[in-house]
Amino acid sequence: MLTKQLGKKLRKEFPVFDYNARHTKDEIRPFHYLDSAASAQKPSAVIDALHSFIEHKYATVHRGAYALSAQSTVMYESTRHEVAKFLGSSFDSSHIVFTKGTTESLNMLASGLSETVLTKSSRIVLPMSEHHSNLVPWQQAALKKDCELAYIHLNGKQGDGLALNLNEASKLITKNTKVVTFSHMGNVLGQINPIEELISLAKAVNAIVIIDCAQSITCLNQNLFALGADAIAFSGHKFYGPTGIGVLALTKSLAEILPPFMFGGGMVSAVSEEGANWVDPPHKFEAGTPPITEAIGLSAAINWYNTLGGQEKIHNHCSKLASQFITGLKKIKEIEIFSPESGRETLVSFRHKTIHSHDLTTILDAHNIALRSGHHCAWPLIHHLGVDALCRASFGVYNDEDDVESSLEVIKNHRFLN
Ligand code: PMP
Repeated sequence: MLTKQLGKKLRKEFPVFDYNARHTKDEIRPFHYLDSAASAQKPSAVIDALHSFIEHKYATVHRGAYALSAQSTVMYESTRHEVAKFLGSSFDSSHIVFTKGTTESLNMLASGLSETVLTKSSRIVLPMSEHHSNLVPWQQAALKKDCELAYIHLNGKQGDGLALNLNEASKLITKNTKVVTFSHMGNVLGQINPIEELISLAKAVNAIVIIDCAQSITCLNQNLFALGADAIAFSGHKFYGPTGIGVLALTKSLAEILPPFMFGGGMVSAVSEEGANWVDPPHKFEAGTPPITEAIGLSAAINWYNTLGGQEKIHNHCSKLASQFITGLKKIKEIEIFSPESGRETLVSFRHKTIHSHDLTTILDAHNIALRSGHHCAWPLIHHLGVDALCRASFGVYNDEDDVESSLEVIKNHRFLN
């Protein structure tokens, strides 16, 4: 199958780029978007699918006896099959739960496991470098059960040191460990965590393995259940799809023991004045009117993504740009880089020694270059690094060398435009 060229050619499929090019008297300043790790831009294929569904095909799901609702239900449920296929063909679509996003998926797990699996003598193990969405819910679960939360630290503060201390992990993951949770790819450092090693440590003590795939979903192999994961979570909006939809994919056994997170219509098999019974997964976890339109958008995003040529090609494209960016940053003596520099990261965090990160990103914005600055929802990690904020450039399928070179030029000369 002929696949698409990534970079500049692909940008034509994203209306946001033309719309946000800045026309001045003398020039057109292209829009350089380097914040895909926060949220990816949407191709026309997704925008058109959303538009067409709302305009002509919209109706609620699972509730109507009329044709439009039946058709909408089929479309909504087919997205579940598409997600399952994307995650590995052996995966059962009845354990694909639609949520609002990664955050809700992880909260569902932390809250549910605190009711069913965790006790006072349990331990939850996770890296201290996690996004707050995979850290605060576990702090709350530990508080609720008065159980132990143990962090795996990094070996150091820069370069190779920005890797998880697996020796510490092996000491922490003992037989009272009930949950081991970690991201596949970090949102601040961009590191790819040693998931096989962590899964094998967790499985040796029968702990539940949860993987936050918010960052890795677009470019790393997602067949993590084959490796032993029990649950994975990701968001549609980082996958070139809409906001308001996320996925929680579960093994059959976890789907059975996890209690519902919310209660209401659609998740009950019978209700009386005395109580209620639940339907089977996935509907047990989807109380209320689900994200119907968003699911149609996610389906369009998966189909569109499948025309790009595969995760490896996408990963190579994005990591090559990140490496070029690092090479350029290294020539600027005031810059400090906070990325393992393995050549596999698709984002780069850095700071300028004399210009605050917020100021530097404001200067970049004046040149129509969008990248993020701040604590990146990872305060424990930011404190460990000894900084108050970092700039982060993250690369997606539509970026190219021009984005890299234009940003480096501004960082080097750091002048405001008139
Ligand atoms: N985990 C990671 C690693 C992330 O990067 C993010 C988003 N920045 C989240 C979780 C939370 O995702 P969402 O805001 O879509 O729920």
